[in-house]
Amino acid sequence: MSSLKVYNSNVKDKEEFVSLVPGHVGMYVCGPTVSGESHLGHARPYITFDVIYRYLMHLGYKVRYVRNITDAGHFEEEGREAIDKISTKAVIEKLEPMELVQKYTNLFHWAMKQFNNLEPSIEPTATGHIVEQINMIEELIKAGYAYEANGSVYFDVKKYAEAHEYGKLSGRIVDDLLETTRELEGQAEKQNKTDFALWKAAPPEHIMRWKSPWGEGFPGWHIECSAMATKYLGKQFDIHGGGMDLLFPHHESEIAQSTICNHVAPVRYWIHNNMITINGRKMGKSYNNVIKLTEMFSGDNPMLEKAYSPMTIRFFILQTHYRSTLDFGNDALLAAEKGLKRLMEAYEWLQSTKYEVRSTKLDDTALDEKVNKLLSEFDEFMNDDFSTARVLANMFELVPVINSLKDKTISFDALSSETLQLLQSKMKLYVEDILGLKTETEGEANKLKGVMKVLIDLRKEARAKKDWMTSDKIRNQLADQGIQLNDEKDGEMSWSVQ
Ligand code: ZN
Repeated sequence: MSSLKVYNSNVKDKEEFVSLVPGHVGMYVCGPTVSGESHLGHARPYITFDVIYRYLMHLGYKVRYVRNITDAGHFEEEGREAIDKISTKAVIEKLEPMELVQKYTNLFHWAMKQFNNLEPSIEPTATGHIVEQINMIEELIKAGYAYEANGSVYFDVKKYAEAHEYGKLSGRIVDDLLETTRELEGQAEKQNKTDFALWKAAPPEHIMRWKSPWGEGFPGWHIECSAMATKYLGKQFDIHGGGMDLLFPHHESEIAQSTICNHVAPVRYWIHNNMITINGRKMGKSYNNVIKLTEMFSGDNPMLEKAYSPMTIRFFILQTHYRSTLDFGNDALLAAEKGLKRLMEAYEWLQSTKYEVRSTKLDDTALDEKVNKLLSEFDEFMNDDFSTARVLANMFELVPVINSLKDKTISFDALSSETLQLLQSKMKLYVEDILGLKTETEGEANKLKGVMKVLIDLRKEARAKKDWMTSDKIRNQLADQGIQLNDEKDGEMSWSVQ
């Protein structure tokens, strides 16, 4: 169906993408934990996989995109003391846990909309799939790969590793993991430190709890994704995505659980986006540099010099390949803001222009060829592991051509009508449908146009009455606001923002 190549984290190389069922793609992406407000770390994976989703649909696939909501408590980090993030915070804020979950889910959805991310096909919640998770854990116990201890259930990694490649995806060496085990304390329930919780017995103060064959408790984080992915995408599906921080233990554990329950490796292509840094430093609570998305949009954070719009952030993220690291710094964001404005201005003009082909003679064959080459490379770059960065680089080579057409430095005759048509249609396809970029200030821009028309008409009336004082006053005061009025030859007036 396509010559799409994707980098598969599990084989550490690019592979040709062939879907399991022709014409269909099943894609699972780990969703947010809604125990707090979405932050900048949520922007990159969901924008990355939104573009992948859009591109697969463009290639003609019917895509089922499943992105879960983690609304049940889970462990923050393997090896640390178990913390149920959701119920801990619920007590602090004196809210019903589901009220908190709803609030942060709504905020997450709002932020995704701001980024112009399409909604996933299914957005299952962990709390809505407790039964499926319990069933899966029972199967793991039956198969001899999980054991109960004091009302909790753990996955036996050592046993799994005897006949399976545990650690292959994340590049961990299982012997090393097991070696460190014996030195650690506080692992009484676990047979090995590497074993991860499938079910955790709930202490009395724990608010979120469910009945299970092992007593009241709550599910581990990893089992949630395995259970929901299997339910909605089948025992084996095409793409599993997420940030590189999820490689271990989360995705490694998902593979182990699903492989035992389903007797097949669950995922064909594992795709991981790289992490973001802020001013060169890893983002995290311990670094005290987490920027919430609402702060990003309002500029209300000491690390930000100003507010950055959702489209600026989207564009900034897409300017770098998803497997490269990306540093959020004010200078880079300001440059992205300017770049996006330049691109969208040229794009808007191109889309609104009705060109007339006045002759069949082509003035500039070299330019015509160049434009065609730049446009055809869009597909080539996206087929090469979704290189949005190179698509955007090509667009910036096309912007000067579009601007030259706009200011009439080159005539429409320079390009063939086929090329002009292709330029319009392909830019529309890529800017809007695939990259999901849009002009943000449409509403305001239209309002400003209306206001400017009123002022220009007033000035025309003043000039007609030889009222130079009013005429000059309008011109000067607009200039103070950074708006310049230009007198055109035919007595008309145009304006531009300086
Ligand atoms: Zn997951």
